Amino acid sequence: MSQYDLDALYRQVILDHYKHPRNRGQFEEDAMSIEMNNPTCGDRIHLQLKLDGDIIEDVRFTGEGCSISMASASMMTQAIKGKKVEEALKMAQEFSRMMLGEDVDITVFGMDDIEALKGVANFPARIKCATLAWKAVEKVKDK
Ligand code: ZN
Repeated sequence: MSQYDLDALYRQVILDHYKHPRNRGQFEEDAMSIEMNNPTCGDRIHLQLKLDGDIIEDVRFTGEGCSISMASASMMTQAIKGKKVEEALKMAQEFSRMMLGEDVDITVFGMDDIEALKGVANFPARIKCATLAWKAVEKVKDK
């Protein structure tokens, strides 16, 4: 990837989430716990969710990896917090579609920042970095 491409990719909003991740940390009390990793890049995420019925009352994540994986995780936690599990799963589905380069109605996420990751669809090697956090959300179905 050329420097030019990187510059286009690593937009300001991505770096902001990477440097100042939202909802980063761990709950001290019991919470639903999901781990995912992306071996091709070395990204790891540990997602914790607190559910109240079918509402995602609160969410935290820890992990390490490239700026895209961590920024995507930060954005994801903001997007799903306070939402229904069903809505979060719909978002995960839409995010995957966005990474396939399909046209997605960004309002489904309830936040604009996620649009900054749209360009990742043009870099196939990085798509798994961006989708890692959302793959973790999809695991809620198996819990
Ligand atoms: Zn990565």
